[in-house]
Amino acid sequence: MKKNLNLYPLLIVIIFSACRKNDPTFENLPKRKTAQTENASLMRSDITNPYYQVDSIGRNIQVVAESPSANSEKDRILNRRFPSDFYPTGFLLAPLDTLRINAEIVSGTSLPKLLIGTYQRYEGVTPQIVELKSGENKIVANKNGGIIWVRYSSSPMSSSKAKLTFVSGHKTVPVFVKNTTTLAQWQKLFEQADTAVHDVLLIGQRTNIVLPRTYAILKTQDNNSILDACDKTWDTEDDISGLDGSAPLHKKLAIPHLMVNRVYAGGAAWDYVTTYSYTSSFAESYAQNAWYQRHESGHQHQTAWDWDQEIMADFYAISTGMDWGLPKNLIARDGGWLQVWQRVKEYFNLPNTSRDYSNIWDGKNISTGERFRGSAMLIQLKLAFGAGFYQELHKQTRAEKPKLPDNASKYRYFMLKACNISGKDLTTFFRKWGFKDEVAYTEITKLNLSQPDIEPSSLTDDPVFTFN
Ligand SMILES: [Zn+2]
Repeated sequence: MKKNLNLYPLLIVIIFSACRKNDPTFENLPKRKTAQTENASLMRSDITNPYYQVDSIGRNIQVVAESPSANSEKDRILNRRFPSDFYPTGFLLAPLDTLRINAEIVSGTSLPKLLIGTYQRYEGVTPQIVELKSGENKIVANKNGGIIWVRYSSSPMSSSKAKLTFVSGHKTVPVFVKNTTTLAQWQKLFEQADTAVHDVLLIGQRTNIVLPRTYAILKTQDNNSILDACDKTWDTEDDISGLDGSAPLHKKLAIPHLMVNRVYAGGAAWDYVTTYSYTSSFAESYAQNAWYQRHESGHQHQTAWDWDQEIMADFYAISTGMDWGLPKNLIARDGGWLQVWQRVKEYFNLPNTSRDYSNIWDGKNISTGERFRGSAMLIQLKLAFGAGFYQELHKQTRAEKPKLPDNASKYRYFMLKACNISGKDLTTFFRKWGFKDEVAYTEITKLNLSQPDIEPSSLTDDPVFTFN
């Protein structure tokens, strides 16, 4: 969702793969001319998807399979927003143009919908949604037009498959597939695209990206590096969240998350997409840092106990930066992690009555570290109990689906879970951080747990820093 806190420039595999073997429509598709066929020394892309064939993006015949609905996946993952639930076709329909497309059911009972236009690409503009019927479809774009996507889900899920034949009216979007499209191919696609095609599409394993065709650096930079950074962000944040495939409940989302450039100050997380106002967030040089991607992806990983969405998004972003081994100045935005423990020390030195975790968020003071104190509390528990702590916490939350209607209930759920999962009485820790819920402290006492071996509030990731 929109939040004006990032305003500072800087800049399953569902068994479809198995189905494919028995599906002559897939097998008969001619292979895209890939890096491998052009240059044997380059790797062929290993980008795969259970619901659409990456090699058929931008081809007139595309076979797609039904996926779980955004609603059911949101309910399973227990995050705050609808995940991306649409597939790239590699085509665009210009405003008021007419698309002719044939649709036929290959198996099952349902046909997909087409989305014309990209969520949040332009303020106030939502995609035109068209339900396809069997046989020939004639679709007239509204005054906006835009990139064409496929949404394919029914409730209950019917596991259908459909063949789409784009006949006329559609325009080819330049598509860069990670580790597949060569720079020469990519530049040619830029040059050959119709003038009405204002967007380009980058395809990764976990993320897809829509950027303006006018963003010239895309034509020459190593786009694999930025797709790698975005994919890696999703993988790391999924890892923090215990999405390890150990049970159906804990599978990663199979449809890549869509990142969209948009004229808007900062980054933002919405249903279906995240948006980034700065095209520079998608420059090769930014890939090592990827703060905005880490933060906005963090919003897409918030779960039931998210008492402050910015503290949560920062936590996933910082935790990811630490897992990547980034230097301290790049772990958080504007170098704010360099001074965070000093800010925490000042907070700890306040009298008990002045420490109130519910008021800890400071979105204005970023480079001086105040902003990241609330997330530092969460990080100390990871330092104390390891990555498994948050993985288990996310898994238990997904399994329990707790109803936590307000911050008081979120704090209490978190405090008790933290004690139960660590097996330690964390009263001292939570009091130090200014948690005020006396009922929670009574409940913790009843658990009769031992004290932590090392007090977690004494821990930092800085070997020379001391709270004394
Ligand atoms: Zn945010």
